[in-house]
Amino acid sequence: MIQKVLILGSGSAGLIAAISLKKILPKLEVRVVRSSDIGVIGVGEGTTVSLPTYLLDYLKLGHARFYAQAEPTWKMGIRFHWGPRDYFDYPFAYQLSGQWRHYSCPNGYYSDENFHGIGLGSALMEANKAFPQHEKSGGGPDFSVPFGFHIENVKLVQTLESIAQELGVAFIEGKMSGAERGPSGISALLLEDGQRLEADFFLDCSGFRSELLGRVLGEEFVDYRRSLFCDRAVVGGWERTTETILPYTIAETMEAGWAWQIEHEHHINRGYVYSSQAISDEAATEEFLRKNPKAPKTPRVVKFRSGRYRRVWVDNVVAIGNSVGFVEPLEATALMTVARQCKNLIMLWEDAALRPTETMRSLYNQLSGETFDDTRDFLALHYKLNTRLDNEFWRHCREDTEMGDLAPLLDFYHENGPSLMNIYCLPSQDRNIFGLEGYLAILVGNRAPYKAKRALTDTERVTWDDMLKTFRTRAEQSLSVAETLAIIRSPQWRWNS
Ligand SMILES: Cc1cc2nc3c(=O)[nH]c(=O)nc-3n(C[C@H](O)[C@H](O)[C@H](O)COP(=O)(O)OP(=O)(O)OC[C@H]3O[C@@H](n4cnc5c(N)ncnc54)[C@H](O)[C@@H]3O)c2cc1C
Repeated sequence: MIQKVLILGSGSAGLIAAISLKKILPKLEVRVVRSSDIGVIGVGEGTTVSLPTYLLDYLKLGHARFYAQAEPTWKMGIRFHWGPRDYFDYPFAYQLSGQWRHYSCPNGYYSDENFHGIGLGSALMEANKAFPQHEKSGGGPDFSVPFGFHIENVKLVQTLESIAQELGVAFIEGKMSGAERGPSGISALLLEDGQRLEADFFLDCSGFRSELLGRVLGEEFVDYRRSLFCDRAVVGGWERTTETILPYTIAETMEAGWAWQIEHEHHINRGYVYSSQAISDEAATEEFLRKNPKAPKTPRVVKFRSGRYRRVWVDNVVAIGNSVGFVEPLEATALMTVARQCKNLIMLWEDAALRPTETMRSLYNQLSGETFDDTRDFLALHYKLNTRLDNEFWRHCREDTEMGDLAPLLDFYHENGPSLMNIYCLPSQDRNIFGLEGYLAILVGNRAPYKAKRALTDTERVTWDDMLKTFRTRAEQSLSVAETLAIIRSPQWRWNS
């Protein structure tokens, strides 16, 4: 029976895991080993909808405290400077995976020419607004609209650490230097200062070092290099002065990859993800600085490899976070994956009354592998379809990106276009994390060609345009990020939880 859990690593993955365990299974003894010498990665600042939902609704960390301490801003989606359109928006709110009443086709067929503001989510992004005003709360933000966070890694880690401490998680400072093996896997961690730490179960949250799963247990690594060619990022930002706080992340096509722009309240964070086969660090830095003259002159270069370990749960060790694997942050999926892994693990442990079975371990490994592979395929689709630049790197992406399990989807789409039946071509269909909405956003956004064109009737055209006008008007009357921040910080504002 699991009674004592030792977590190696105190980055966002280790801390979310520690809090999840203490909140849902409070009888567990949870300790965290961390090394100030090694520190945390310090990047990872955009999220999907899952992270706010997980932290605030599932773990109930408390809105007032979390917003005051971690100071997130809101992200309504991603704006892609990608493909043949000037740009396209992929909001978290659903818009393509449906069909409005009285229309003969699903929405995607109407979006070939104009793909701006076809739902409230993208209309909000167009208008630089975050939340509609809620009538019941006297014009306050309506937080029922789906949103993710922009959140500074250091502030997130500090907030999570203080919450973990309050929940009774113990922190041990020290650097792991080895591990002792026992009959059920690992029996103890050994620290450089001579400490020997025993536990029943170990979570490897040691980031890219993957100390337990990768180094001690030697699990096989599944490389994604045939689908995802990038392996480095130049990272640097600047203090905000007069720039508006945008309610979305920007993903912008670059010569040998793409660049993000993440919007914190006082800081703008930029990063250029690139392939070291296609461009040198110096040339990437130069291109990055040309686009971002306010960034520091010597931005940081972060190296990574795309892929995942074949199993994440081996013996009495589960890895969570960057220690499991990594895909570039084109859809900002890592923290979502951390939350998903924590939730699945806890559900299994609860069902097993803390005596997990072999089949649970297999299922967990299958689900974790699927999550990573689905993300790889989804990101690969972004590269495959991007016709924005015609240079060696992007031609290579269009021609040579391996599509994993997505080939049937692409075939179906090329024949039939944005039909809702595309859903049955998705890998791990009912569990796919991006769902039909995500795939259609990238296919329609990039104007992926298809044969079965459908034209609007004259009546449909008039009512479609009217509907878009209604979204636009509602969005223009909504609240910006800055206005929403002011409201939630006013003395009159009350959170429900
Ligand atoms: C360029 C880039 C951009 C990213 N952008 C995003 C994004 O927008 N959204 C997103 O969700 N994610 C993003 N990520 C991923 C992001 O890093 C993770 O989501 C998140 O920060 C999880 O980190 P972690 O806790 O796994 O690792 P880390 O933050 O690296 O933490 C590892 C911990 O383990 C400890 N440790 C390691 N080895 C030892 C040892 N031997 N002894 C003791 N302690 C040890 C360290 O001190 C640290 O506390 C990005 C990553 C990169 C590289």
